Amino acid sequence: MKAYDGMYIGGHWRPAVGTGTIAVVNPADEQVIGHVPAGGAEDVDAAVRAARAAFPAWAATPPAERAARIGALRDVLAARMDEIAETVTAELGAPAQLASTVHAGLPVLVAGSYAELAASYSFEEQIGNSTVLLEPVGVVGAITPWNYPLHQIVAKVAPALAAGCTIVLKPAEDTPLTARLFAEAVHEAGLPAGVFNLVTGLGPVAGQALAEHPGVDLVSFTGSTAVGRQIGATAGAAVKRVALELGGKSANVILPSADLAKAVNVGIANVMSNSGQTCSAWTRMLVHTDQYDEAVELAAEAVAKYVPGERVGPLVNAEQQRRVRGYIEQGVAEGARLVAGGPEAPHPTGYFVAPTVFADVTPEMTIAQEEIFGPVVSILRYEDEDDALRIANGTVYGLAGAVWGERSEAVAFARRMDTGQVDINGGRFNPLAPFGGYKQSGIGRELGPHGLAEYLHTKSLQF
Ligand code: NAD
Repeated sequence: MKAYDGMYIGGHWRPAVGTGTIAVVNPADEQVIGHVPAGGAEDVDAAVRAARAAFPAWAATPPAERAARIGALRDVLAARMDEIAETVTAELGAPAQLASTVHAGLPVLVAGSYAELAASYSFEEQIGNSTVLLEPVGVVGAITPWNYPLHQIVAKVAPALAAGCTIVLKPAEDTPLTARLFAEAVHEAGLPAGVFNLVTGLGPVAGQALAEHPGVDLVSFTGSTAVGRQIGATAGAAVKRVALELGGKSANVILPSADLAKAVNVGIANVMSNSGQTCSAWTRMLVHTDQYDEAVELAAEAVAKYVPGERVGPLVNAEQQRRVRGYIEQGVAEGARLVAGGPEAPHPTGYFVAPTVFADVTPEMTIAQEEIFGPVVSILRYEDEDDALRIANGTVYGLAGAVWGERSEAVAFARRMDTGQVDINGGRFNPLAPFGGYKQSGIGRELGPHGLAEYLHTKSLQF
């Protein structure tokens, strides 16, 4: 167990103003693995001042030089992948393979994409007799969740740096050690002092202080819809830019023309990955009534491969475990049929939840409406395409989704979905495609050029 002190502010590690700490727990064995300082409003203020002071010079740095620094950051992240993966496994509980390929690998890809974009992006455009300048918004307050600890940080910091913004990051309480590693990487990459700053702390204390700080020009938040709503209200009152990446309840729509076995298998894998703690997970599987029984059987077979403690890690903390088990109990109480898993914890220690599949789920049930954020799949039955569309669009969320079937039918269906991303027949993840939600899943987009545009505002010069 290690006590980490200091916050990364103005290019060096300095002690927190207060003496409070946050314990970091390994969710696989419930052991405390470290403590980090719980920063408060004064720490946030110091970090915002440092970011403000660094802003003019960083904004004026030529994009090619900013690109070179982001490229250096990418290289440090790549060189430290093993350490990053071990840290994510220790504080999130991610199985080793997932930790190295996704948790450590994806941020390298995203950082690399912004090194390229910073160099090639056109920060100026011509419209008639106007030259439109795309300028950095200013100081960014970034607030991130624990589910993909490093990816969520890089998906904000890399485009902000590319745009010429400076940043104060407040990472999730459960995964601050990965955030500290990221700050070390920033330092090693030689970014100028104050361009990136880290304050660890509690959401309602440090997070709120950051969202409310008048020196922050844009708040970029990823997390729950409940907190996102508050942050949006705070930003609205201050007439401040805000980007919100919130929850999801995505539909995996299997049309009758689909390869049913593939659609079910990939659908189950999609939800079980990261123990179901993925905002874009396809937690509702929609199957035509004629194929329903076969799909349920296939799903039960597929989920048996996901053994807790092997391919499936624990949930991040005891509270999440309790919440998810509560949802499973509620599913049973509301009349859904358990075909795999259940509310009992599969291991006496560690915050594990049994991979669970429900059949006979109807659209109005709680488990079909609310985000569960655990390894739980609900299989719903539809009569025809219009019925499938009503069910798919029938939640407050609209983050992601999937459609399986003959290509043109699948695309026609996807066009009618109220959601920000749709994978057609298992389409590959594209780190340059805009990611973000319709409806209560959020405002704004991350990744690729659309993600960069979030950190820019426009100025028109007329000639
Ligand atoms: P959360 O909203 O509780 O916390 C997210 C972050 O906000 C943390 O850093 C937390 O400390 C901070 N925070 C909490 N209260 C705050 C406040 N009052 N003011 C300012 N900051 C505050 O969410 P979580 O439990 O960490 O993450 C799970 C949720 O995040 C899920 O709902 C999931 O869908 C969502 N999520 C969305 C995306 C996306 O891209 N749309 C990605 C990952 C997670």
